[in-house]
Amino acid sequence: MAVDSAHSSPLGPPAGEKDAKALQFIEEMTRNAESVQERVLAEILTRNSQTEYLTRFKLNDATDRETFKSKVPVITYEDLQPVIQRIANGDRSPILSAHPISEFLTSSGTSAGERKLMPTIKEELDRRQLLYSLLMPVMNIYVPGLDKGKGLYFLFVKSETRTSGGLLARPVLTSYYKSDHFKTRPFDPYNVYTSPNEAILCPDSFQSMYTQMLCGLLERHQVLRLGAVFASGLLRAIRFLQLNWRQLAQDIETGSLNPNITDSSLSGCIAKILKPNPELAEFVRHECLKDSWEGIVTRIWPNTKYLDVIVTGAMAQYIPTLDYYSGGLPLACTMYASSECYFGLNLNPMCKPSEVSYTIMPNMAYFEFLPHEPDSAGVSLTRDSPPKLVDLVGVEIGKEYELVITTYAGLCRYRVGDILRVTGFHNSAPQFHFVRRKNVLLSIDADKTDEAELQTAVENASRLLREFNTSVVEYTSYAYTKTIPGHYVVYWELLVKDSANTPNNEVLQQCCLAMEVSLNSVYRQCRVADNSIGPLEIRMVKNGTFEELMDYAISRGASINQYKVPRCVSFTPIMELLDSRVISAHFSPALPHWTPERRR
Ligand code: AMP
Repeated sequence: MAVDSAHSSPLGPPAGEKDAKALQFIEEMTRNAESVQERVLAEILTRNSQTEYLTRFKLNDATDRETFKSKVPVITYEDLQPVIQRIANGDRSPILSAHPISEFLTSSGTSAGERKLMPTIKEELDRRQLLYSLLMPVMNIYVPGLDKGKGLYFLFVKSETRTSGGLLARPVLTSYYKSDHFKTRPFDPYNVYTSPNEAILCPDSFQSMYTQMLCGLLERHQVLRLGAVFASGLLRAIRFLQLNWRQLAQDIETGSLNPNITDSSLSGCIAKILKPNPELAEFVRHECLKDSWEGIVTRIWPNTKYLDVIVTGAMAQYIPTLDYYSGGLPLACTMYASSECYFGLNLNPMCKPSEVSYTIMPNMAYFEFLPHEPDSAGVSLTRDSPPKLVDLVGVEIGKEYELVITTYAGLCRYRVGDILRVTGFHNSAPQFHFVRRKNVLLSIDADKTDEAELQTAVENASRLLREFNTSVVEYTSYAYTKTIPGHYVVYWELLVKDSANTPNNEVLQQCCLAMEVSLNSVYRQCRVADNSIGPLEIRMVKNGTFEELMDYAISRGASINQYKVPRCVSFTPIMELLDSRVISAHFSPALPHWTPERRR
């Protein structure tokens, strides 16, 4: 649809009236970032002024930034844990938010080994939907014709539990897909998925993936974009196709659905779509049987214009593999969000992954920025040196900050744990490169393992070596992603005191499992329920390897006095050194225990 010049946007020409409005909204918000932020904070403080949390700080109904910043402390999840526990236990009084807490969103960040519980309120769904509604209007500026076909998106719901007080606890995307906002969304030609809602909402991950893949194959010529939330999810789908194409081809040939799809609403829905198509079945077999799967995405879905997956942050490790399977299709990272709050979007989504910057939308929450010194442990928040937090419009290009948010749902000056670097501005709203999440050592999928967790895991596992009079002298780790799914590799150098009684393969396999058992619930869920992480591997290295590692670091300028063994490595020469010293490799022989129920 042509749009008259009155509607044209500095971002680019909109694809229609609706898009013009969305782009205009982005312009308004980013031009007035300062005043929007002021309004957002005043709204939050006004509505929550009588909450137990805010009354502690005696704001006396003040809603201005200066009073807020001088009286309300900057906090982490651990500071909030006691009140979150009370809400989880059923206390319905206005503790954090004047609006009732509608559910908890379970973050992939963990505290004491369990997922963090993020309180949310009903209206946050509107805010999330608002951000989603801006994505396609921006994309349409760069990729024309997306209304002429469909998106093959692998979207999933995960298991949910109830807290002892009866509130639902589930991931934010599960909450969104199960909401009417998603289920009864109005038809939008730019946002048509090949996956029916029944497939997305099926709680059984095999049945959900199988039917989403089947629908994607059936409509392969209509597919214009392929996506999942994170890169790891899209690679999992490709792996799924590798494992299941024979059965999928058979279903397509015969027009009858795999009997393992037992969910009746799902099989009923697929029965309406699936008709015998021997020609397509033959095509699928022909392509999947080829030795090389290079470029498989564009061979099967030849009209795909881009892959819609997040490849920033920890997911950057998957870029080469995605390039391999897609023949180098553009990778679009469209948004930046979390369970606590949806933050913003990429206004130039077809840029290279290394150049992705997210523009924080000032209407989503009140944002502050804690200056972060690169290569330091971060800014300490002691009483002697109160941190100077910077406002959204006050950040400086090139500097790094930790994101701190105050949300409508009642988080006040909450440290998200993400480190961002300012790359520029769109109008007066800053744009950020996602640098990394603080304290994350290893990540394959949604899991985030920090140094302390890895240390505990190694300690617990090494107990099994005591009876062999053996100990772990040094260790380091690596997120191995050359296979799908990827897995954790932990390099161990052992001190074996009695060479007649060395731990054998079986013992070391049990050490792998002991480490997995010790890791946090998100790791174990990925491993057990999602199958998105493979068995943990211990690679035993020769004695003296870690000393060589130190020599190498020193030869590259590290100080002997300050040298610390890196607990995670990714630099190729170091990997090569370690791998050349490996004596034996051992894999976890079983799945660690995991249930959706929380331990506490
Ligand atoms: P969760 O705690 O499971 O809600 O995950 C939210 C976290 O995922 C954020 O705080 C970031 O660390 C990470 N994340 C979300 N979106 C992006 C993105 N576009 N690029 C990099 N990391 C992201």
